[in-house]
Amino acid sequence: MPEEMDKPLISLHLVDSDSSLAKVPDEAPKVGILGSGDFARSLATRLVGSGFKVVVGSRNPKRTAGLFPSAAQVTFQEEAVSSPEVIFVAVFREHYSSLCSLSDQLAGKILVDVSNPTEQEHLQHRESNAEYLASLFPTCTVVKAFNVISAWTLQAGPRDGNRQVPICGDQPEARRAVSEMALAMGFMPVDMGSLASAREVEAMPLRLLPAWKVPTLLALGLFVCFYAYNFVRDVLQPYVQESQNKFFKLPVSVVNTTLPCVAYVLLSLVYLPGVLAAALQLRRGTKYQRFPDWLDHWLQHRKQIGLLSFFCAALHALYSFCLPLRRAHRYDLVNLAVKQVLANKSHLWVEEEVWRMEIYLSLGVLALGTLSLLAVTSLPSIANSLNWREFSFVQSSLGFVALVLSTLHTLTYGWTRAFEESRYKFYLPPTFTLTLLVPCVVILAKALFLLPCISRRLARIRRGWERDGTIKFTLPTDHALAEKTSHV
Ligand code: NAP
Repeated sequence: MPEEMDKPLISLHLVDSDSSLAKVPDEAPKVGILGSGDFARSLATRLVGSGFKVVVGSRNPKRTAGLFPSAAQVTFQEEAVSSPEVIFVAVFREHYSSLCSLSDQLAGKILVDVSNPTEQEHLQHRESNAEYLASLFPTCTVVKAFNVISAWTLQAGPRDGNRQVPICGDQPEARRAVSEMALAMGFMPVDMGSLASAREVEAMPLRLLPAWKVPTLLALGLFVCFYAYNFVRDVLQPYVQESQNKFFKLPVSVVNTTLPCVAYVLLSLVYLPGVLAAALQLRRGTKYQRFPDWLDHWLQHRKQIGLLSFFCAALHALYSFCLPLRRAHRYDLVNLAVKQVLANKSHLWVEEEVWRMEIYLSLGVLALGTLSLLAVTSLPSIANSLNWREFSFVQSSLGFVALVLSTLHTLTYGWTRAFEESRYKFYLPPTFTLTLLVPCVVILAKALFLLPCISRRLARIRRGWERDGTIKFTLPTDHALAEKTSHV
């Protein structure tokens, strides 16, 4: 077991496969690293590859030397910290105090704290790891940096998503020195100011998709509500009132009737805050008053809500493809055929049903296609290649087209069912009628805002006009220019 523990997470093969890591020129700037773990190894590799001379300080250099690129010098801690001006502390917080014996050699040097607390440690300690390190080494300048970069990223090289390195420290000179090193290593330094920001910087890697929390809870909440509603209508009602066992519908059929409801309502919730914001601006007669916090948050989460809507719609399409594969479907078909034969009917063809299905399937495919386009253009690499007008056209106009197509898909699916008494099981209206509520409000409101008297007023407000007359403003006579106003 002890031998197992000695094995590095990142293989030496990866480290020494690159010949550029074999030798570093003598005049290269020297950097120290305390610790010989995964992070220290990856950091040493990246530093050597970026043209730095690296000296690693370990409690047991003999054991660990073979794990580092041959250009890095691995020695005892005391020797490693003697000459470099910048020293990375790649050691966990609980072991900082074991480095206190090096205080004299470290005096006046820059210590880079790369540590990350666990969630529990972050809550437990009021002072950040970096501030704690600074309190142990008052004669040193502590800079917090690189904690948001994983050992794997250091090893593999910076990628778009995690190129940024927040850096903070009390001395601007020290921050600048570390920022230059980050740049040389291919990262993008982000100056976070004094060491007091270290707690915030240390909290960054602890976050788990913060922007997705509320939208995901919203989607889950809608799913649970619609699933329960469909369960009562499609499974419980036949069981209670007709003694039919339809529990087999739970895994596929009920899920498949729930997913489009969630997708459709979520899509309408992407456009509802824009409508509310426009209504507020019209009512206040200005765009210079802040929206309420809840509306602000809602506006900021539209992308995530839209992507979740796309996810549910895509799942609905997949489930729908699977419906004919079910054994229950095959039995239903055979039973229908037998019934036909027994009733001596040779040709089953209901023209209206055929048309209804052709149209609603086609509208569904079109809606999903448009939603896919929206999802693809929300990817940063694609969004960055569009100008503001193109992006706004896709997200705002095409998104609204997707909402209209989904509404038509739902209406053709429902057809006349909302008016049939037999569809009101347990007196509950069909699910699709409920889902239509919010989208129809959004579509009607959007149509209302297109009326010339309202759209002109909204355009003026969004270009800075105020009802109270503090800003005098006349809309350009050129209609195309007026159109270029930003839309919420
Ligand atoms: P690790 O593999 O466990 O290495 C920690 C190193 O600390 C050991 O190899 C050891 O090196 C050294 N050390 C010095 N004094 C020690 C003591 N008294 N007791 C035990 N070890 C001592 O951990 P790591 O993953 O490299 O992480 C190191 C630091 O980087 C941590 O603060 C971590 O939060 C931070 N970090 C890591 C990552 C990552 O992806 N791994 C990412 C960001 C930040 P010697 O035995 O040679 O002295």
